Amino acid sequence: MSLLEEKVILVTGGSRGIGRATVLEAAAQGADVAIIYRANTAEAEQVAAEVTALGVSARTYACDVAEAEQVKALIEQVIADFGQLDIVVNNAGIARDKLLIAMSEEDFDAVIATNLKGAFNVAKAAASKMIRKRTGVIINISSIVGQHGNAGQANYAAAKAGLIGMTQSIAKELAGRNVRCCAVAPGFIETDMTAGLSEQLQEKMLAEIPLARLGQPEDIARAVVWLASDQAAYITGITLTVDGGMTI
Ligand code: NAP
Repeated sequence: MSLLEEKVILVTGGSRGIGRATVLEAAAQGADVAIIYRANTAEAEQVAAEVTALGVSARTYACDVAEAEQVKALIEQVIADFGQLDIVVNNAGIARDKLLIAMSEEDFDAVIATNLKGAFNVAKAAASKMIRKRTGVIINISSIVGQHGNAGQANYAAAKAGLIGMTQSIAKELAGRNVRCCAVAPGFIETDMTAGLSEQLQEKMLAEIPLARLGQPEDIARAVVWLASDQAAYITGITLTVDGGMTI
């Protein structure tokens, strides 16, 4: 039997990169999928078409996760459209890298608003529904940068570390209602977010990865889908690092 049969999963930032791979893996495992994106409708529709070709349902929703009112309306709409919501994946994220003394307040606030508050908004709105049904899973996409820090990413590291603490708190709060919450901490994954990094930096990263290759979105997607499935029913509050051994 497929891992997510008869489940409905919502993935923020589902139009590209890790989110897109998660959408496709969840669909391949039998889930119906709500694909959340911010701006690029054509890309989201393309992913939805790929999902539909797998024989399950997909719908796309434009929503800025940093806006609590938009998120509340989104969760209502997804439940109205699909009749249920079993899993949410807080994957939407941005980076605005600068060394600390050059980082603007705006760049700090923007990264916290999307990467941390966005996850809070979605988790809160979804949890209020899940606890009533006594079932649900929330997966937050953190980063090894949230666990270890990285020069030039004080804003991003703060948001991603915040997600780990929030994951543990939500897990403790909701376990009694049979709602699980876990985080996944990817290492260096080849997506649009990392495409702009210099070849020299990418080579340096590669040299630090024991499994000797850069991560692919599918590496993260498979971990997310497994953690979200009933195979992981006794796991909550953890942060699963998926980094090819980079942080061993
Ligand atoms: P990506 O390719 O840049 O894709 C980002 C996605 O997030 C897009 O679908 C984008 O939608 C959406 N998004 C951005 N801001 C949003 C907002 N305010 N509201 C709703 N959607 C929003 O990123 P990625 O590399 O796949 O990263 C996905 C997640 O993994 C992020 O949280 C990132 O921090 C984390 N991560 C990535 C790496 C890596 O090496 N790539 C490593 C560790 C962690 P639009 O296109 O419509 O704007």
